[in-house]
Amino acid sequence: MAAYPFTPIWNCGITLLVNEEGILIKDNVKRIQVELPEGVQLVGAAKTRSAEEVIEAIEAGLTIIGHNYVQEAERLFHAVSHPVKWHMIGHLQSNKAKKAAAIFDMVETVDSMKLAKAIDRACKGLNKTMPILLEINSGEEVQKAGVMPENAAQLLQEISTLSHVKIRGLMTMGPFTGDPEEARPYFRKTKMLFDELNALNLDRVELSLLSMGMSNSYEIAIEEGANLVRIGTKLFGERV
Ligand SMILES: *Cc1c(COP(=O)(O)O)cnc(C)c1O
Repeated sequence: MAAYPFTPIWNCGITLLVNEEGILIKDNVKRIQVELPEGVQLVGAAKTRSAEEVIEAIEAGLTIIGHNYVQEAERLFHAVSHPVKWHMIGHLQSNKAKKAAAIFDMVETVDSMKLAKAIDRACKGLNKTMPILLEINSGEEVQKAGVMPENAAQLLQEISTLSHVKIRGLMTMGPFTGDPEEARPYFRKTKMLFDELNALNLDRVELSLLSMGMSNSYEIAIEEGANLVRIGTKLFGERV
């Protein structure tokens, strides 16, 4: 009936493509992929999504799946046979490192030596090296995950001595606020830290990835230097 195959809807400040049958995941993936500047990679944040939804996104061109929960990711991993990369983007407990090491291609949320060691040990057993990102608590909020910015250099140096993890960059969430513009200073601060840490020229440390920004904030994060963006809602719709 409509002249357009889909209707953009306004949803918590996020436009989504939908029709009578629901969220048009394929169209959302394609639209974001063409919008992203060259060199910026899309991570599809897949927590709570079904294998069917994730496969639809992959068939539209998504190549990296992000997940927050090891068990849920494991189920999805076994249901999806496509050659995609899997990133751990949620808080990882050391006692789940072994399971995580088996399925993930990158852990974006390393924030302690204890966790890095657990991943290193698990990867030794699997004869693989895990690329990791240091998660920065850029809002310096006591209850939040991530290493405090002032402790990042020391942690980086300690982790760099481990043989089966390889530090590839930084990740941050930033404090949650409704207004994405309020996240900008935290993205900027994390990019400055990224440059400072790179300038230390530590052995075995070469930071090239900066993971910042979600559905409502990725455009601002990219302006501030992000080259990995983690997007869920704007691909799959609101989580129920
Ligand atoms: C859920 C989640 C995202 C994606 O959030 P949306 O607002 O749905 O885009 C990104 N990063 C992390 C760490 C997440 O947990």
